[in-house]
Amino acid sequence: MSESRHAVFGHPITHSLSPRIHAHFGRQTGIPVHFEAIDATPETFPTALEAFAAGGGTGANVTLPLKEAALALCAEVSDRARRAGAVNTLVRKGGQWHGDNTDGTGLVRDLTARQGVDVRQRRTLLIGAGGAAHGVAPALIDAGIGELFIVNRTTARADALVDKLGLPGRVHARYFEDLHAIGEFDLVINATSAAREPGSTNAESGLPKLPTSLVGTRTACVDLSYGEVAIPFLAWARAAGAHNVIDGVGMLVEQAADAFKLWHGVRPYTDEVYTALRERDALLVTAD
Ligand code: NAP
Repeated sequence: MSESRHAVFGHPITHSLSPRIHAHFGRQTGIPVHFEAIDATPETFPTALEAFAAGGGTGANVTLPLKEAALALCAEVSDRARRAGAVNTLVRKGGQWHGDNTDGTGLVRDLTARQGVDVRQRRTLLIGAGGAAHGVAPALIDAGIGELFIVNRTTARADALVDKLGLPGRVHARYFEDLHAIGEFDLVINATSAAREPGSTNAESGLPKLPTSLVGTRTACVDLSYGEVAIPFLAWARAAGAHNVIDGVGMLVEQAADAFKLWHGVRPYTDEVYTALRERDALLVTAD
């Protein structure tokens, strides 16, 4: 079997765990995998992707800040990528790029199959309205969550996401200032990159101020990030008394497995690589 060429594009990308995850999937399935990390900005991405295809690239993951740019470069996109307005997986077919988005299904699978969180009918707060929030919101709705409240620093983006989801009465935008009087949630998801800002290594910086009244004894709190970037929100969740405190490692592994299936036709088992990543210091670095 010849080695296919795959990559993850993003900026920054040096610390990405994706090459390690895909190498593991390749070994497990016996499929030869060559997977690299390619640094590209929104400006250099179109040329870098073209060069990758010319060099035999047949599939790619796309991360911050390129997911919207990737959508624009696709000849065709899946329904879930269109709903998300963002592409995290590219597949080369007939000399063109086809785009998909596995972030939402990755999160739902991690929560339901690994973390034991039943998301059905759960009153949910989504913090953030960027690419990741756009990816996970439709999947959470499809998985049967209850009411969904969305807050974002730039309120117009929260309003736009609510409008896009198109479920008046079930999905609502709120201001951060309203959160102290909004009650408890079953599921609180941090989909911001606030703690990525320079110097944001503790709860006082980067992360928006959140009242502990959002959290009850049965609440699951989830940060889509992992490593150092997830520390402030997860520390807040623990201090608030959350029942489950979950980072984005499982989501990362599950979205990668869905991408692997799109490229190779086989969905690898994920528990092994999840455990291996958990045991490594690698989780203490900032990655995609
Ligand atoms: P993005 O498109 O750049 O969106 C960033 C979001 O964070 C926006 O809602 C932004 O608000 C908000 N934000 C940034 N700085 C903030 C601050 N200081 N205070 C409050 N809000 C702030 O990024 P993304 O693609 O959505 O990614 C978000 C996070 O999810 C990243 O850390 C990423 O690594 C993680 N992620 C993880 C996985 C996984 O597989 N585990 C997958 C995807 C994403 P504004 O709209 O006001 O700018």
